Amino acid sequence: MSHLSDLEIANQSTLKRINEIAEKVGITNEALEPYGHFRGKVDITKLKDKTEKGKVVLVTALSPTPAGEGKSTVTVGLADALNQLNEKVMVALREPSLGPVFGMKGGATGGGYAQVLPMEEINLHFNGDLHAITTANNALSAFIDNHIYHGNELNIDSRRIEWKRVLDMNDRELRQVVVGLGGPGRGVPREDGFDITVASEIMAIFCLSNGIEDLKENLANITVGYTVDKKPVTVRDLKVEGALTLILKDAIKPNIVQTIEGTPALVHGGPFANIAHGCNSIIATNTARKLADVVVTESGFGSDLGAEKFLDIKARKAGFDPSAIVIVATIRALKMHGGVSKNELKTENVEAVKKGIVNLNKHIENIKQFGVEPVVAINAFIHDTDEEVKFVEDWCKGQGVKVALTEVWEKGGKGGIDLAKEVLKVLEKPQQFKPLYDLEMSIEDKLETIVQKVYGGRTVKFTDKAYKQLKTIKENGWDKYPVCVAKTQYSFTDDPTKLGAPTEFDITIRELLPKTGAGFIVALTGDIMTMPGLPKQPAALNMDVNEDGTAKGLF
Ligand code: ADP
Repeated sequence: MSHLSDLEIANQSTLKRINEIAEKVGITNEALEPYGHFRGKVDITKLKDKTEKGKVVLVTALSPTPAGEGKSTVTVGLADALNQLNEKVMVALREPSLGPVFGMKGGATGGGYAQVLPMEEINLHFNGDLHAITTANNALSAFIDNHIYHGNELNIDSRRIEWKRVLDMNDRELRQVVVGLGGPGRGVPREDGFDITVASEIMAIFCLSNGIEDLKENLANITVGYTVDKKPVTVRDLKVEGALTLILKDAIKPNIVQTIEGTPALVHGGPFANIAHGCNSIIATNTARKLADVVVTESGFGSDLGAEKFLDIKARKAGFDPSAIVIVATIRALKMHGGVSKNELKTENVEAVKKGIVNLNKHIENIKQFGVEPVVAINAFIHDTDEEVKFVEDWCKGQGVKVALTEVWEKGGKGGIDLAKEVLKVLEKPQQFKPLYDLEMSIEDKLETIVQKVYGGRTVKFTDKAYKQLKTIKENGWDKYPVCVAKTQYSFTDDPTKLGAPTEFDITIRELLPKTGAGFIVALTGDIMTMPGLPKQPAALNMDVNEDGTAKGLF
């Protein structure tokens, strides 16, 4: 049984040079741009094979505990297992944000013996991508304020600027700020605010664009605010889409790294799934589809958040159908949904698992609604007992659902062979993937469909503010976009304390924010914040670095 930390395991691993990893999937030296010895970027214009043929396996989860249920871990372990079974496979993951790394949840490179490496570099400002996105976002803020300062030719109403500044850190102090103080020579004072970079529309655009030209067009379409007579003002009006694209020209190239077992992985783009759409970049997923036969990717949090958005927003935009969907379940999360408190999750409690299975059941139902067969991966923890695991296995089999005990955290790829075999069975069968709603439906109907079919609730309610925003959306013809719901990850409802699979609840839409560059409408629910705060004991308290530059306490 492994008792080493993720970082210790990572440090003990022997990495291959990145050109060797790239070669395995036919990335030539011409297309590979190495960043040091063990990571690089891929110039997709120089790839030989342009056909997107690889099948996509999506990894999602049940509603998680605050620690996360091991989606990234299972994604990596499943790919390593498929690799052991001689499949030509690649991983496509999101890149981590410094907010959770220094806050509570931790990094996003998997765990135990199922990790992507080098984990330190990936977790800490990986190849500069998040900095580039932050810079592009804040350059746009500077261009807007500068336009107003120099006479405001476009007649922008400084009270109606929707574009916020961003920072890749949890910093609650910056949620609302006033800028431009200090007199006439120092700018035009106005209220502003900061979001975390992963919630920036530029992050969403980055992940939903098909290439440089598409990126530029989508950036041009961003609505930054409104004129005094309430007409939308776009990046195109400001004429800065070229400059913003230039800032992103290297970041937009997918990053290549390796798993502990040497499986090639593309780690690129990283919006959160509770406050944004929660999937890695289309460019990375489709690049992996050109290079491999099977692409294992993940979306954030449960099927109600990342997977719904993966299927309704990303897959629709990227033009692929997912071929199999893995739902990661843990005994500890099932116990939590069965009413067990956080401190008791390590004690055997089969009754609680039985009670909590309603949550997994709803996630299974959700995936089936999209026409794709789910496979349940029980991510094994050392505190799980045989009886608890047996109950979940028997329950799944009783429902006719494929299930596999997955021990990739402890054993790497060989702990995921059973899961890989179940996934391969699904890949052999044609699936009937279909997004949940039609884009022609009204925003209200799209939201109601998600609430009723995916969350299991009754209906949607709108605050007065959201109603007003809905009116603006309709007036501007933006109601044919998909919706991107920002909601707590802990519950199917908008209240994080309602666990299990609640029914008879309504969802209140607090605000509706048109993201005309990304091409979706964000619907904010509950208390969800687009700039998180740090917990009382942030992970940062355990971190340090040695004289020789070795990281400590990075999980
Ligand atoms: P998610 O992607 O669902 O957020 P991660 O894969 O990032 O979850 O895992 C979250 C944390 O839990 C990581 O630190 C990882 O090492 C740990 N973890 C995952 N699976 C296991 C397991 N089976 N046993 C122990 N720790 C695990």
